[in-house]
Amino acid sequence: MIEFIGINKFYGSLPALVDINAEVKKGEVVVVCGPSGSGKSTLIRTVNRLEEIQSGVLRFDGQNVHAKISSLAMNHLRSRIGFVFQSFNLFPHLSVLDNVMLSPVKVNGIKRSKAREIALQLLDRVGLSSKAQNYPAQLSGGQQQRVAIARALAMEPPAMLFDEPTSALDPEMVGEVLAVMRGLARDGMTMMCVTHEMNFARDVADRVWFMDAGRLLESASPSAFFGSPQHPRAQRFLSDLR
Ligand code: ATP
Ligand code: MG
Repeated sequence: MIEFIGINKFYGSLPALVDINAEVKKGEVVVVCGPSGSGKSTLIRTVNRLEEIQSGVLRFDGQNVHAKISSLAMNHLRSRIGFVFQSFNLFPHLSVLDNVMLSPVKVNGIKRSKAREIALQLLDRVGLSSKAQNYPAQLSGGQQQRVAIARALAMEPPAMLFDEPTSALDPEMVGEVLAVMRGLARDGMTMMCVTHEMNFARDVADRVWFMDAGRLLESASPSAFFGSPQHPRAQRFLSDLR
């Protein structure tokens, strides 16, 4: 579903991604971990081309993301990749329901009545039907992040990307967002998640990718990664967590 083939990226002279070769298969949950500055966000942001690459091929659902494509085609591609960031970026002047309905109506041209029906189902899925008419500022951080997930799902993306979706939340709200992500994983969603929540990685991930200094040093099952990490850098990372 998401294929990284010989990806290299520099910020000026700084190598941010070094020869990344990996694949997230359909229905798989990959958790990307590693120290700060190791390239996790850069990697995930190359998937919908928020970051350009200098070499390599990146395919999303068969499509070459970094080929020369029109901005229209790029927008279409982006609309098919669900992306949830640390900051929720909801539209403050729109109700929760309208936030979720916006893209299906504006981008996909779905009728408002149909989009509303879908949006209400999605809000139910993230446990927020009762907040449909509220505005983002009236919601807690965890609730806003769940709306952001519902909004991404409204475009029916074949895969979802998460970049530290719980890092900006108060600790008591982390669980409710992770629960929604667990539900998605259980339903077979293809997911690539940058997170420091190692319990989530242990329980939910099919594979854990460990990055350091722009390199993907390890890709392993959670039990192998947490039980017997191979790379010394990964061993150090894990022992520092304990
Ligand atoms: P964190 O855990 O702190 O979020 P990360 O693993 O997501 O870190 P990245 O944000 O991908 O790391 O950054 C990888 C490297 O690229 C870092 O050295 C960072 O300073 C650098 N970098 C990131 N964005 C830019 C940018 N826009 N311009 C220049 N350098 C950048
Ligand atoms: Mg980051």
